[in-house]
Amino acid sequence: MIKRTIAQLAEMIKVENDVSKFQNELINGVCIDTRKISSGNLFVPFKGENTDGHQHVEAALNNGAGAVLWQKDVPNPPENAPVLIVENTLLALQQLARSYRNELSAKVIGITGSNGKTTTKDIAAAVFSETFKVHKTEGNFNNHIGLPLTILGMEETTEIAILEMGMSGKGEISLLTRIARPDVAIITNIGEAHLLDLGSREAIAEAKLEIAEGLPKKGVLIYPGNEPLLIKKISGLKQFRTCTFGESAENDLYPEHISMSENGSTFTVSNLTKEPFNLPISGKHNVLNALSVLLAAKEFSLTAASMQAGLKAVKLSNMRMEWHHGKKGTSILNDAYNASPTAMRAVISMVENMDGNRDKIVVLGDMLELGDQEKFFHEQIGTELDPGKIKFVFTYGHLGKYIAEGAKKHFPEQRVFNFTDKAELVSTLIEKIEGNEIVLFKASRGIKLEEAVEALISKG
Ligand code: ATP
Ligand code: MG
Repeated sequence: MIKRTIAQLAEMIKVENDVSKFQNELINGVCIDTRKISSGNLFVPFKGENTDGHQHVEAALNNGAGAVLWQKDVPNPPENAPVLIVENTLLALQQLARSYRNELSAKVIGITGSNGKTTTKDIAAAVFSETFKVHKTEGNFNNHIGLPLTILGMEETTEIAILEMGMSGKGEISLLTRIARPDVAIITNIGEAHLLDLGSREAIAEAKLEIAEGLPKKGVLIYPGNEPLLIKKISGLKQFRTCTFGESAENDLYPEHISMSENGSTFTVSNLTKEPFNLPISGKHNVLNALSVLLAAKEFSLTAASMQAGLKAVKLSNMRMEWHHGKKGTSILNDAYNASPTAMRAVISMVENMDGNRDKIVVLGDMLELGDQEKFFHEQIGTELDPGKIKFVFTYGHLGKYIAEGAKKHFPEQRVFNFTDKAELVSTLIEKIEGNEIVLFKASRGIKLEEAVEALISKG
């Protein structure tokens, strides 16, 4: 994490008061939560609409903060304490991260996209850790506050930083990429996620492409080559290199001979090595996420053997493609961390195409943040479900019911159920399970569908 004297901090950000009295004191890391302060931290308060972090500054200093930022328009800063007065504390935090990143020699890999950012980050961390000292975004710390904090958490000795960049609107990735200045930028995909804020897929593609604004001349943009919206827009941009991944052979990397099981995916990769790659997570979408990482790994001249070892070692964060064993020999897939039509389609298609001898049950809930076309998107997922591959469709929630409506158009009625109560859902599910089925749970995080997963695991 950042270690600087107060005098050095005052050179990195614009400080408006005289801090010379404290200039040789050392700051160790940055914290925005007084409950998590470690000795020597720089505490950064934010002035929100309802609460004001400045009221916790006293506590931060008492808990061992080495210094605090203070926003100029807030009255009565503490006296005789290491207080750095700035125009705006959020902008100062971002500026501090920008300066720190410029001082470090680490190479940065920035990852954005509608789906698969955290997954791709975790895959990249596993692959690059084989060879380099890696620092990565913890959890989902990917926004205008999380990204600066992640950068400020880097050690001077970090060789590769892997940073997730999230967004809900235009201009947000632009801000993040100008702070992080990635050497390699990855766009995982363009989905329908966050249509609520952006309106169209085209606008989403434009917003994701903002990541290229932070690339240096020798930088490289890695993107899905089968996404027409990106191809069209990127062809006009010439100031950086590009490479593509995707299912088809016109991409720089594409997968061949994919096989899937509960334990993950095995695939070979065109023009890397003949030996197969094993990824302990299933789903074709995850194979593509892995390919984007392999392209980045090629940029750093990693050997095929270390790429293979890295992929084998991948571990995902909670609720992303978590498999559990149910009581009657069922395999339960909890992928209820988040959902958008693209993400839902990807995991449904994966389950539909798994082991043909086993029956499949899907339990699908609301996909949130889709804007005024939300009913349409849910119904469309229902109409796409394959009655030849899925035995029962369970839906949950006030939007989930439109998935059921879509499914009822081509499934026999007695194979489609909609619920507004999780206990009822689980008891019906237990009634219908004969044994050995594959049961998929997928919905947005806000629906808490994992409660039904837990109930099924413990009861049925
Ligand atoms: P968030 O916006 O919440 O940070 P994220 O982009 O980090 O999301 P992940 O958490 O990695 O995404 O994955 C979320 C879900 O997206 C996964 O559970 C999976 O179903 C789906 N997913 C992952 N990768 C892809 C992909 N390349 N294409 C489509 N869907 C994907
Ligand atoms: Mg994420």
